[in-house]
Amino acid sequence: ALLYRVDGWGAPYFTVNSNGNVAVRPYGADTLAHEEIDLLKVVKKASDPKTSGGLGLQLPLVVRFPDVLKNRLESLQSSFEFAVQSQGYQSHYQGVYPVKCNQDKFVVEDIVKFGSGFRFGLEAGSKPELLLAMSCLCNGSPDALLICNGFKDVEYISLALVARKLQLNTVIVLEQEEELDIVINVSEKLGIRPVIGLRAKLRTKHSGHFGSTSGEKGKFGLTTMQILRVVKKLQQYEMLDCLQLLHFHIGSQIPSTSLLADGVSEAAQIYSELVRLGAGMRVIDIGGGLGIDYDGSKSQDSDVSVAYTLQEYASAVVESIRLVCDRKGVSHPIICSESGRAIVSHHSILVFQAVSASSHDSSPPALSVGLQYFVEQLADEALIDYQNLSAAAIRGEHETCLLYADKLKQRCVEQFKEGSLGIEQLAAVDDLCEVVSKAVGVPDPIHTYHVNVSVFTSIPDFWGIQQLFPILPIHRLDETPSVRGILSDLTCDSDGKIDKFIGGESSLPLHKLEGNGGGECAPYYLGMFLGGAYEEALGGVHNLFGGPSVVRVSQSDGPHSFAVTRAMPGPSCGDVLRVMHHEPELMFQTLKHRVEEYADDGDVKSNVSIINGLASCFNNMPYLAAAETCRLTTAGS
Ligand code: PLP
Repeated sequence: ALLYRVDGWGAPYFTVNSNGNVAVRPYGADTLAHEEIDLLKVVKKASDPKTSGGLGLQLPLVVRFPDVLKNRLESLQSSFEFAVQSQGYQSHYQGVYPVKCNQDKFVVEDIVKFGSGFRFGLEAGSKPELLLAMSCLCNGSPDALLICNGFKDVEYISLALVARKLQLNTVIVLEQEEELDIVINVSEKLGIRPVIGLRAKLRTKHSGHFGSTSGEKGKFGLTTMQILRVVKKLQQYEMLDCLQLLHFHIGSQIPSTSLLADGVSEAAQIYSELVRLGAGMRVIDIGGGLGIDYDGSKSQDSDVSVAYTLQEYASAVVESIRLVCDRKGVSHPIICSESGRAIVSHHSILVFQAVSASSHDSSPPALSVGLQYFVEQLADEALIDYQNLSAAAIRGEHETCLLYADKLKQRCVEQFKEGSLGIEQLAAVDDLCEVVSKAVGVPDPIHTYHVNVSVFTSIPDFWGIQQLFPILPIHRLDETPSVRGILSDLTCDSDGKIDKFIGGESSLPLHKLEGNGGGECAPYYLGMFLGGAYEEALGGVHNLFGGPSVVRVSQSDGPHSFAVTRAMPGPSCGDVLRVMHHEPELMFQTLKHRVEEYADDGDVKSNVSIINGLASCFNNMPYLAAAETCRLTTAGS
């Protein structure tokens, strides 16, 4: 656990149990020991077709814990409630979840259900997000806010106005000044009075990676001048009472409470000025940015960490707004936040398997061809290098040995390229150089573990913005890892690898893969943690690898403390082909006719097997699978 800093980034939800497996604590600090869920048991249950009740799902696998989601939501709410009460704040906190962080139906429905007791709402940034937020909030609290952000057209604004008519507490937040004209026109046409918010471009700037949306030159929001023009226009149309919410977002992963307080205070000043100008202000929406400590370092100098707790965050927000409003004699507004990352990151874990590792056996390799034969093939200069290498070895001069081994290798490669050295000799020189480096004690090389996952599909932020996530084996943690490795994914792309890890490491401590007697290695499962936000929605279909399988796991009184309440296989080859506009049904028919035409050797049974095998290829997931799942192999028999 120490090696992988589990206590730093994982508390209070993840720990290592006495079996050396990662254990999940679904209720955070309130979890009792018998309620801890052994992640390996979940993976076995989900993936193993042989164990009783095994679901036979293919990896990679996302394991979702709705109880963790509930705990995150309740912790956020109670932190704000504590800050409100302890500071004598005269209004309340009422958050929304930005669905862009993870639009999965069950995630959004869970949040609406878990949050309905405290009026928790949703934020949408596009028309499909608004449609899903509208339908989910039909089952939520009637007071829950539905915040409409993002760039808008007539259809988006009309939809948001219809949502108000459906008694959903909808606020249209102006991201651009031009949106106001559409709001005024459409609301008049539909006869629906809007509730309007505006997004302010704050001067406060967050300098981390996620801060480019903040500051005067940020992509979104209205400048001070534009805000004044909006107020004036609303006044002209006698709609100033419709302006009720002020929103800002200074970027994700806000590193410190001092920067947060700075931004919130600036916004509270604007809020107070809008009150003074006669707007019907009720809500201050502080956007997202509540950060996650991905590396457990509690540092404000890193994009993957933050230097505050949930409680410190909430207290800083409440205090900043209270101080400004009290000074200006303005009633305390409802405080809304749009925390995404902080709500959903912990609840899901991506589990994948290492299928092989580049083998660097610790015993010196035997030369693949006889030494004498090898030496005879060497050209003059290479022969001299070989003789120098031998002499240095006899004298015990290690550095010189390495130098000549390197030279010898380079010359042999040149000879090979010229055509004067055979492939066996080229292999022999590689072996010889490895023997030399082992003998002189060059540190063990970094191993490459091949993992059955796509970085582009499941960890896109690592590829796109070098975002680090905690990654570790989910079992064998009672054994000291004996090698270090990087992870190389399934895609045919050199960027499809993970070679940076939390703590600034360029390799990960790993266990040697074990044989299971059948020539294959025993399963070695790795987990990527804290990836519940953004990764699923951002992931693409590079090489046509689709999303992982998904299970939902809840605490139960059963023998294993858990129950799988939902299991969904990942997209099949047919599904991902469809994403790129292929038509799997037609493709199958084309191939079927081809079999009937070309493979017809009179054996009808064999043709039927080939056709069935092809059909199952379309239905199976694109990831590597156990040999038994291939139905084509039975075609010839
Ligand atoms: N609200 C807005 C307007 C955003 O742009 C974002 C993300 O960038 C969020 C909320 C969610 O931010 P976070 O996931 O950091 O809480």
